[in-house]
Amino acid sequence: MIFKNVDRVGWDPSIQTYLNDGGYEQLKTALGMDPKAITEEVKKSGLRGRGGAGFPTGVKWTFIPPNNTKPVYLICNADESEPGTFKDRYILHQDPHQLIEGMVITCFAVGAKVAYIYIREEFPEAAIILEKAIAEAKEKNFVGNNVLGSGFDVEIYVHRGAAAYICGEETGLIESLEGKRAYPRIKPPYFPAALGLYMCPTIVNNVESLCHVKHIVQMGGDEYAKLGVARNTGTRILCVSGDVKNPGYFEVEVGKVTMRELIYDMCGGPKDGREIKAVIPGGSSSKILRTDEKFKLKNPDGSDREITFWDIPMDFDSLAACGSMAGSGGVIVIDDSRKISWVLNNINAFYAHESCGQCTPCREGSTWMRKISDRLVAGLATPMDIDTLESVAYQIDGRTICAFGEASSWPVEAIIAKFRDELIADTRVENALDPANPEAAAQ
Ligand code: NAD
Ligand code: SF4
Repeated sequence: MIFKNVDRVGWDPSIQTYLNDGGYEQLKTALGMDPKAITEEVKKSGLRGRGGAGFPTGVKWTFIPPNNTKPVYLICNADESEPGTFKDRYILHQDPHQLIEGMVITCFAVGAKVAYIYIREEFPEAAIILEKAIAEAKEKNFVGNNVLGSGFDVEIYVHRGAAAYICGEETGLIESLEGKRAYPRIKPPYFPAALGLYMCPTIVNNVESLCHVKHIVQMGGDEYAKLGVARNTGTRILCVSGDVKNPGYFEVEVGKVTMRELIYDMCGGPKDGREIKAVIPGGSSSKILRTDEKFKLKNPDGSDREITFWDIPMDFDSLAACGSMAGSGGVIVIDDSRKISWVLNNINAFYAHESCGQCTPCREGSTWMRKISDRLVAGLATPMDIDTLESVAYQIDGRTICAFGEASSWPVEAIIAKFRDELIADTRVENALDPANPEAAAQ
């Protein structure tokens, strides 16, 4: 559905190709509807945000204050930066009109006359493609004044990001869009739906989420909700990277595919002679899962059922019940050739580099965590360092302005809880005890 045109033979991102394929028909349908009815269909569809948090999209739209007199804005979050996630870029590069159609319908539904696509700095080609696509859509009057004679006006602008992960956090993004440093705001009170861009109501939705809107208009919310499973409806793109034979992106019905089907049937399983030992299921911020773990899930009648790692359905609620999250759909596979201390250090280096520095636990803590895991991979850490690392992670968790604090500490907490023995095996007790060892003394 969403990736229908990605890598499609004979497809190009021009408006003519999109129109030949029935493009912008759903916009015409939507313009004939009551805007509130569109929101109602999106609510009925059960669509949950595909950026990572899985918040119900239609419900978010209703958070615009009812007596609002300020302008309303729509922001498309195209700052896809979560390690392991590479889905939105394909839509931006290959099917920009699907996004634009979804955005114009959304603007009509929420009463926004101005929309921004905040695109990460590292996608320069996609920004050019989008600008061309918006110009084409304006020429055909799908964007601009009096869209298709409906009396509805809307403008869409592309805004290049500032090459920082935190610009994808919605309130950091808004600060950046306002021309300031991307310091996240405290939520509450600054939930963008009420107090967003220029302190006006602002709906921030991910690229993939906005594309779903056109399909919901086409199918109707009830019909769309038949895709997937209860509370986890529709399709979503899973991006699989790491130690499998055929990594790539896969559009699946949410919850209809298990970890085994994804990794073995779709990705060809582990590389020859290797065994998969762990998976990070929802981008680097999500908690690692071991392949030998067992979990308890709830049946529809409320009873419990025990499942293995391989039976986990790939949906928001199941992955949350397994102690992790579906997040942005970035599935990172780790086999037995990888040292877990290396994985840990790689993650820590990323978050230490990307912390915006606004709050102390995150700024200092992420750097301390990286320093400790640097020592670990260099063979200079002591077993006590693992305890210190764990303690630092728990002191960041829940004590920061934005969710980046948890994003940096959850992976550390989970890796230590599940792979402590392997990490301890990489420490050197003798270094700590040997005063003649100058490197250890320096630590
Ligand atoms: P969140 O749960 O705080 O919010 C989710 C959305 O719901 C936001 O738009 C928020 O404004 C809205 N919301 C929640 N409660 C609300 C309320 N009471 N009133 C009004 N609006 C409300 O999560 P978040 O911090 O926006 O996102 C975290 C997720 O982002 C992580 O789970 C991670 O997977 C993901 N992420 C994705 C990428 C990527 O590249 N796609 C990058 C980094 C992080
Ligand atoms: Fe910045 Fe980290 Fe604080 Fe978020 S948690 S505001 S990224 S310092």
